This record gives sequence, C-alpha cells and structure tokens, in this order.
Amino acid sequence: MIDPFAVRGDFPGLKKKVYGKPLIYLDNPATTHKPREVLDAVNNFYANCNSNIHRGAHYLSSHASEMYETARSTVQQFINARSSREVVFTRNATEAINLVAHCFGALWIGEGDEIIISEMEHHSNIIPWQVLCEQKKAVLKVLPFDDSGILQIESLNSLITEKTKIIAVTHVSNVLGTINPVKEIVAAARRFGVAVLIDAAQAVGHLSIDVQDIDCDFLVFSGHKLYAETGIGVLYGKKARLELMPPFQTGGGMVLSVNVHRSQFAKTPYKFEAGTPNIAGALSLKAAMEYVENRGLNAIGEYEQALRGYAESMLLKISSLRIYGTADQKSAITTFSIDGVDSYDAATMLDKLGVAVRSGYFCAEPALKHYNCNGALRAGFVFYNTQQEAETLVRSIANVITMIRG
Ligand code: PLP
Repeated sequence: MIDPFAVRGDFPGLKKKVYGKPLIYLDNPATTHKPREVLDAVNNFYANCNSNIHRGAHYLSSHASEMYETARSTVQQFINARSSREVVFTRNATEAINLVAHCFGALWIGEGDEIIISEMEHHSNIIPWQVLCEQKKAVLKVLPFDDSGILQIESLNSLITEKTKIIAVTHVSNVLGTINPVKEIVAAARRFGVAVLIDAAQAVGHLSIDVQDIDCDFLVFSGHKLYAETGIGVLYGKKARLELMPPFQTGGGMVLSVNVHRSQFAKTPYKFEAGTPNIAGALSLKAAMEYVENRGLNAIGEYEQALRGYAESMLLKISSLRIYGTADQKSAITTFSIDGVDSYDAATMLDKLGVAVRSGYFCAEPALKHYNCNGALRAGFVFYNTQQEAETLVRSIANVITMIRG
C-alpha cells in the first residue's frame, strides 16, 4: 500500500510554495521531483568520491569506477537484462534513440528499407527515424491508433514487409497514457525477423520492465522521469546487436588502443560511452531505482492508476472538457482540452493557483493532431500525488473556466 503522505516526506522539492500556495506538481511526465536518497547520492559522490572513472590507478578513481559499474548492474537488474554489458549509459532517452538510429541505421538500413513507428510517438522517437530515412532513402511507415488511443496492432501484419528492418514504438504514450502491448508487437516483428526498439520513457518507474520477457532488441529511458537527475539515460540493447553496431561518438574511454592512423574500439557498452560520462547521474539513477523498488513497483503502478481514474471521474463531470486517451490499459496520464479555452492560458491560470500542469503538444504533435486538437493540458499523477491534489486540480479547472467565460 502506498501512503502518498509518507512518500512526500522524502521529496524536499514538494514542500515549495508557489505564489504563496502549496505546490501541486502534476508535470511528472515531463520530469519528476527527486527523493532525498537521490540528492544524497549526488552529494556524496562529489563530497567523498569525486574522480574521473576508468582511467586512474589512484584510490578515488578506482572507487568511482566501481560505483559507476555498480550503478550499471543495478540498471541491469532493474530491467532484468541478461548482462550489464547490455546497459549503455546515455544522456537521456532522446540520445539513446539517436544512438540506435545512427548505429543500427549505419549497419542495417539501406535504400528502400522500411522503418515503422506509431502515430503516438514522442518527437524523440520520430525525428531520428525521419532523418535516417532521408539519409538512406528509406521509407517511414506509421502504425495508426484509434480514437480511444489504442494502437491498431492488426495493421502491423500488412505494414511489415520483407523490407522492414525496425519497429520503434512507445511503451506508454506521453499524451494518451495508453500502455501498448509491447510483447505482442515484438512477437509480430519476430515472425518477420524485424528488430524492435521500445521507448520506455513513460513506463519506467510506473510499470515493472523485463527486457527478457518483452524480448525487444532495444529499450530506452531517461533517469529524470524516474526520480533521478537530468542528464542520465539508458539504452538497453541485446548484446549480439550492440557488438555488431559501430560506435556512436568517438574519443576517449571507448578505445582499447590507438595509433595515429587506426584505433581499436572497446567492447560494448564502453564502445558507446565516449568521453567522461555523467558519473553522479548514474549514481543518482541507482539510488532512484532502489527507492522505487523499496516502495514496490506494482503498488506504485496500482496507486497511480487509481488516482488517475479518480481524477478523470471528476473531470468528466465538466461538460465542456474532453479527455484524449480512454484505453482500458492506461497509465496515470490525463490529457484534456476545454471547449473555447486556450491550453496555454488555462495552464498559466492554473499555475497562479499553485497547480503545475503542462500545455501544448507535449512533443507529440501527431498524437494530438489525430483529434484535430491544437493544444491540450496534461496532468500526470505519481505516487507522491494525493486525492486532495486531484480534487484541487478539478476545482481549479472549474474556477479557470468560470474566470475565462465570465
Ligand atoms: N519518449 C517519451 C515517450 C517521452 O515522454 C519523452 C519525454 O517526455 C521522451 C521520449 C524524451 O525524453 P528526454 O527528453 O528525457 O530524452
């Protein structure tokens, strides 16, 4: 059982007041607040272990290297990867997707090949594939969703051809909240020998993730949406794939030997981690993963979805309000618009009441354009949000509508 009030005690950032009002933070899909354990992990690194990794023989460097590799093992266990060599640290989910588009693309995408994404992707899982298709003269195909926000998986059988090389799809939509049947998508892809990348940016920390069970080739996420620092992300890749792929960036830290004309690259994951990485970020990610595991991912997911259901049941009583995304399998994201009310104006007015929500397209323009919607509001609930906050959100929206309409 999640006690959101006990959880809140761990998050100093939630104590803040805005405009003299208690902060009601519902912009969690954009980034979450950080528990004290995460802040302490970062502070402890710089106060007690600060050093660069992998290069020094001295005490601090070997200690920092060991901590960094322990963080990698924590990630491996958290997503149930077979080996820590399958865990590459990146800056964020966006960089991880770009890495795959670049390195997978260099090896396995040629003229006329096909890549499938879905209509509900975040721009970070659209643009890298568009650019790759332009560079390689490949073809980008789109898996549509229906009006309730459910991917039309049955279309996959006609979309996939012998030219299809990779499907890149989100686990959870950052707009519609839909939890996609990723295992089913991978199974469909497998029948044709097609690789699959799962964008787990909105899934991690809310659903438990098992990459062996999903059987995807790649899975990506950002630490900052999982209560860790910004600037740290993860690319999971099957070892056999990563070993064949060329490096993304080159330089120090990713080589075995160098002479002025030729270099020998290190094995995965180091081959993909050129330059000094975000060491403190990796440690913050370890602390964040341990924090949510201690609270219990199943309990977290159940609590968050129930809170979202409670908020939506109240929102639906507002007659001019429309919710986008009504799938049964839905996470704790509620996106909505109000007839005749500009989303940016409404978010600005909610802010003055202490309620932090996001407005606009949420970097997933095609998903909202599906509904001819030119901007919406989004509330994302996590395990530190309370029923009282959901009630205040709904009351504040009603007040905003009254203020705007007079
Ligand atoms: N994918 C999804 C589904 C997201 O919601 C986001 C961010 O909101 C991203 C990718 C990109 O994450 P980041 O900006 O941390 O790279």
